[in-house]
Amino acid sequence: MAVEQTEVQALVDSAERVAAFTGAGISAESGIPTYRGDDGVWNKYDPAKYAEIGNFLADPAYYWSFFREVRYPVLRNARPNPAHLALARLEQQGKLSAVITQNIDGLHQEAGSEKVLELHGNTRRISCLGCGMGYSLDQVHHRLEEKFPPDCPACGGVLKPEVVFFGESLPMEVLDDAVEETRSCDLFLVVGSSLVVQPAASLPPLAVESGARLVIINRDPTPLDRLAHLVLHEKASDVLGPLIGLPD
Ligand code: NAD
Repeated sequence: MAVEQTEVQALVDSAERVAAFTGAGISAESGIPTYRGDDGVWNKYDPAKYAEIGNFLADPAYYWSFFREVRYPVLRNARPNPAHLALARLEQQGKLSAVITQNIDGLHQEAGSEKVLELHGNTRRISCLGCGMGYSLDQVHHRLEEKFPPDCPACGGVLKPEVVFFGESLPMEVLDDAVEETRSCDLFLVVGSSLVVQPAASLPPLAVESGARLVIINRDPTPLDRLAHLVLHEKASDVLGPLIGLPD
């Protein structure tokens, strides 16, 4: 690990424009389970059901039960970990141009990252499908204590998290911006993604084709490891924390 750590440091030091691509693994150490984890409570609810747009519209109560029992308690307590903080610091130092993320937990922003391209939206923002009014996690949690499933206090419409559900399109503008960042960086840092879903699987090859070095930091092997200049099967915070002087 010490050798690879030095190598990551050298690659970051010599890069002029770093783009980071993050997935569920970067937030695992903040207490947010990945889909592919073994956490029993999370697995009690089926993402294919609560996060599929047709199923959601047919039965919003299933999603809001998941929210009440699992998502809200997890998000309320989750704080950015050294890996989120390191990426924010690299941006503040003018090294990193953007974090492209599949995550919907808002922890990059909480860590201080400014340019966060959220490919799948953000589950902390909730809005009414009827009138468009926006609500926070706490407001909706409060609402569902009095009315279940919670509806819009303003118009009675259906509330939905501002997340891209299965069956919905990715936000084109965000995706275009992500492609642009991928093309224009000289170091593409993947952190905590299995790189199996799109567009996650297509961005690292695009970075390499465009001349960037690719570093993959992921606990388990990914199908794109063979493309990378450097692969670390380590915990994200163990690798990124020391970059900003936090002990590993
Ligand atoms: P994934 O669940 O497919 O893969 C996560 C990867 O993280 C795994 O390959 C695992 O080896 C790795 N990992 C686990 N702990 C790690 C750690 N401490 N350090 C480094 N790596 C670690 O994740 P994905 O590729 O992001 O795809 C899953 C989908 O699920 C995404 O679309 C995402 O939107 C959604 N999701 C998001 C969150 C979140 O917002 N925090 C949580 C779960 C799922």
